[in-house]
Amino acid sequence: MDISVIVPLFNEDESLPHLAEWITRVMTENNFTYEVIMVDDGSKDKSWEVIEKLSQENSAYKGIKFRRNYGKSAALNVGFGKAKGDVVITMDADLQDSPDEIPELYRMIKEDGYDLVSGWKKKRYDSKLAKNIPSKLFNATTRKMSGIKLHDFNCGLKAYRHDVVKSIEVYGEMHRYIPVIAKWAGFSKIGEKVVQHRKREFGVTKFGLDRFVNGYLDLFSIMFISKFGKKPMHFFGLIGSIFFLLGFVSVVVLGVQKLVALSNHIPMRLITDSPYFYLALLGIVLGTILFVTGFLAELVGRNSPTRNTYLIEKELLDEKSE
Ligand code: UDP
Ligand code: MG
Repeated sequence: MDISVIVPLFNEDESLPHLAEWITRVMTENNFTYEVIMVDDGSKDKSWEVIEKLSQENSAYKGIKFRRNYGKSAALNVGFGKAKGDVVITMDADLQDSPDEIPELYRMIKEDGYDLVSGWKKKRYDSKLAKNIPSKLFNATTRKMSGIKLHDFNCGLKAYRHDVVKSIEVYGEMHRYIPVIAKWAGFSKIGEKVVQHRKREFGVTKFGLDRFVNGYLDLFSIMFISKFGKKPMHFFGLIGSIFFLLGFVSVVVLGVQKLVALSNHIPMRLITDSPYFYLALLGIVLGTILFVTGFLAELVGRNSPTRNTYLIEKELLDEKSE
């Protein structure tokens, strides 16, 4: 199979029929063999009915419905697990991404040898204040911290080589950082394509301003996990040791000073009257706590399953694959 299209969606019943018609047209015109996996992220509207109808009319259309809303990352992750195409394309359901980009994205993966090609909404049709300006800042930070030269990390339209989606895991709100996750999974040929962006015709945006606060926190987590995820003790142990040593050495110095003063009969205030004593104590306590945290993190890391599990309510997939 040439292409798997994965569409994460949450309350998009008005857009879906138009999107499906458009995808089918592009696939047929280009003679691609394909599947479209619609992941219904716990919609409350008629989205699932639309998906059922689509899959009855055309067996290339498959559906998965979550029991509740888990978020776009979870939807993508489950879609990635099911995808069978050589090239996997993700696309928003709201018609803001154009299926006309699919053939060129496919070509860039197949012929130019990219692992991942990310769309770049060079000209955006979202509200300026709420999206465009914070998003510039967000992209600049991510570029700096990850060393990946992309203009638009969060674009929903992306193409992947089959191996890439089978090797990465997206959870929480990490869909904004898939290129970063792919890079540390060892897929470094990451490209970019300017894509058309359109106004949202139906429904409303599912992400508010809080995305930017959460987005930044996630960036820190992701940089931390990529560096220390498999060896948390290297982080906590190091900082813990530094604190502990600083505290310990200070206490020894204070004690020796006091002893020297005593043996020479020089009057000196009590050790507990000195602010340094409390700082030293703080250092020892903090150091110990960090150290123990490191051990706990190692234990947790060793016992946690590698994949998140999501409760899937229904599936529309062909039987042979199961
Ligand atoms: N989406 C989802 N689960 C969610 C939120 C959003 O699957 O919890 C889907 C949504 O239906 C759409 C895509 O993610 O297909 C992008 O969302 P949206 O268009 O609201 O984001 P924006 O374009 O405003 O950044
Ligand atoms: Mg949108």
